Amino acid sequence: MDSSLSFEQGPIRPPSEAKSLLLRFSRNCPWNKCKFCPVYKRRTFGRRTLEEIKADIDAATQMREQILKLSWALGSAGKVNDQVVQKVFSNPALSDSFRNVAAWLYYGTGNVFLQDANSLLINPETLAEAVGYLRRSIPEVERITTYARSSTAAQRTVEELTLLRKAGLDRVHIGLETGYDPLLKFMKKGTTAAKQIKGGQNIKAAGMELSEYVMPGLGGKKWSKEHAVHSAQVLNQINPDFIRLRTLRVPTRVELYKDLENGAFEKLSDDEVVEEIRLFVSCLEGIESYVASDHIMNLIETVEGRLPDAKENMLEILDHYLGLPEKEKLMYRLCRRMGRCREPRDIDRYGLRGDLTAAFERVAAQGDVEDILTQMADSMV
Ligand code: SF4
Repeated sequence: MDSSLSFEQGPIRPPSEAKSLLLRFSRNCPWNKCKFCPVYKRRTFGRRTLEEIKADIDAATQMREQILKLSWALGSAGKVNDQVVQKVFSNPALSDSFRNVAAWLYYGTGNVFLQDANSLLINPETLAEAVGYLRRSIPEVERITTYARSSTAAQRTVEELTLLRKAGLDRVHIGLETGYDPLLKFMKKGTTAAKQIKGGQNIKAAGMELSEYVMPGLGGKKWSKEHAVHSAQVLNQINPDFIRLRTLRVPTRVELYKDLENGAFEKLSDDEVVEEIRLFVSCLEGIESYVASDHIMNLIETVEGRLPDAKENMLEILDHYLGLPEKEKLMYRLCRRMGRCREPRDIDRYGLRGDLTAAFERVAAQGDVEDILTQMADSMV
């Protein structure tokens, strides 16, 4: 295998793209000002030329060919199994991107995610050409998705977006965060509720799938209700395919941390976030989106399902948590932050109570349980 082969990859992808091939079509974020976002700070946005993108696709194509050849040589008949992946991963000379291609073939998802934060800013003809080239080069590619900003999606015409869909771009992920204008302004999100609605509707009108991310807790104590209600109202006008929850955390490296310190922003407690999500879900009306809580930062991961049928069940899960005795809530939060359960009923469902009681006593002996739970959650950012 050729250890000189590599292609560029960016720092993040959505949780739902964990098993995707990652290709970087542009670098970093052209906006880069959101107060809560730690990702691209001190990095400059950069467009990549079509030639650079095609060279990366060519490198991925060669890696794929070499991995399949290895599979035949190992007697695996072109299948990328444990043995083949192990061989690639145990070779320290190979690049991370080489490993990503091997893992991608192993998982067999066929999904490709185009990095970084706003691929729709790329000239539509150039992006369509690059997406088409990718589809022609790698036969295993089934679904291509990317991140975009709502303000850019609002500027693109339905015709331009349709060109991209026809070239093979299937899904766009947008960080809505909130649909409440004063909060968008306070967080320096660089968009408005109206632009979010237009951008989302444009993507849907072009026939692409749309995934919108909402950030529970973003309104803080001051705007929790407005955040929940207005975000739901905006989404009710878009009817995205997916609504994904990703709860706010405030690590020290984000600008919002200064607001937290000087009192301009007051964080919600875990319980208040659950109440906020309850209000948000109860306000989702007349849409058929799939709600997902597939992020490690969310306290309850099982708040999910397709609207409108799943709404009642989601509210029941949230109400069940809110109705627990205080000690039981703490036990569950510990269990969740330890990564051992997805909802409170998992404690007994998976026989975790004994272990958890012992862990809880250890934590309580170390100091304030609330502080320790916050530290555990913040360490996941
Ligand atoms: S637009 Fe997205 S990537 Fe850019 S700063 Fe805001 S949250 Fe971060």
